[in-house]
Amino acid sequence: MKSLFEQYQEEFHGIDYCCYCLEPKGNKWHCCHENHFVPFEDLDIQDQKEVIEGEIEFAKWQSEHQEKMYGR
Ligand SMILES: [Zn+2]
Repeated sequence: MKSLFEQYQEEFHGIDYCCYCLEPKGNKWHCCHENHFVPFEDLDIQDQKEVIEGEIEFAKWQSEHQEKMYGR
């Protein structure tokens, strides 16, 4: 059985992140005045954890926001 961390590692595999602020690259050409993006799997474990925690926080925020929008 895989740990939650390993599941997230799989989910984010191949996604590029800015190596300075750990923002996802998305459609950007550069970030933090640099064009230095690193695929998720090449970040060190500490940075990977930070990215995952950030994504979880964002998902939580998003679901709370949606609940308010639909008045539930
Ligand atoms: Zn950046």
